Amino acid sequence: MIGVAFDPAKLVDPDQLKFWSAWQVKARKATVSAITQFEDWLVGPRDKPFQLNFQSPIWKELKDWLLENVFPDKCAYCERTISGYYGDAEHFRPKGAVKNGQAIPECQIDHPIDGHILAMQHPGYFWLAYDWRNLLPSCVYCNSGNGKNEQFPTANPHVFVERLTPAQLQAIPQHCQPLASIRWPGRFYYHAPEYLNEREKPLILCPLNPIPAYDPRKLLRFHLTGKVVPKEGSPEAEMTIKVFGLNDKKLCELRQKAQESFRLKYFDLLRELDPDNPDQAKVQKFIDDYAAGKYPFSAAALEYYRVFYRAVPKPA
Ligand SMILES: [Zn+2]
Repeated sequence: MIGVAFDPAKLVDPDQLKFWSAWQVKARKATVSAITQFEDWLVGPRDKPFQLNFQSPIWKELKDWLLENVFPDKCAYCERTISGYYGDAEHFRPKGAVKNGQAIPECQIDHPIDGHILAMQHPGYFWLAYDWRNLLPSCVYCNSGNGKNEQFPTANPHVFVERLTPAQLQAIPQHCQPLASIRWPGRFYYHAPEYLNEREKPLILCPLNPIPAYDPRKLLRFHLTGKVVPKEGSPEAEMTIKVFGLNDKKLCELRQKAQESFRLKYFDLLRELDPDNPDQAKVQKFIDDYAAGKYPFSAAALEYYRVFYRAVPKPA
């Protein structure tokens, strides 16, 4: 896992911009539908568990785009190579149910019509089902079987729909303003990751736009055995390794191979350089591409570089 920065506001390529604005329109419409479905169920007889009709083509479309443009053909969590066809769109905050270990978090809300208190199991972050900040391309190993699935461990209670007064709303920074209910004034859904993270304190790391204190680059260390361990005793890093199964035997082997491939490519590059007129920019670009997470297992390869080659002078 390597932290990757992505800000759609910085896109300049006309094709990328075209895709992004069209996708956002679809995502916004689907989010309204998801919230409406929940609120309809809430005021209905509730004789069946809440279940949403999700529009999976929308998040699949984004997943394919992210694999092409942000996480080059690799799983955002384990950095294994995947193609667009095989990968899943993984919801960092699960869209249809939440588990904290084996437990399903309980939550309480006041009924939108008569105000009585309703206790229920957290239904999942359905309002984030089409939020790009919550969608990451993932391999099937990280997102099924012994992988993450519906797990979202947090130190604090999981956020759900809340009633907010105008004064409370005003106190929330503009860029974190929650989504308003479709049917009932005064009810809101938090969706900005900054705000949700602050409230919930997730116990797993997110590779997309991580905040510096929880950046996988800072908290995960890769050994030459291919194994990954927490740095600085981080409980979040430890939980991340466990939830995503990052020390799976096959993954460790693949990381070792990626480190070996890095070494060969690095020395091939050095050999190609003209000793009388070395192109340092070429070497720097090679390292920068790994630092940007452009290759499978970039984090493990960079660790290898840091350990073995930081003392090796670059061509003068
Ligand atoms: Zn994976």
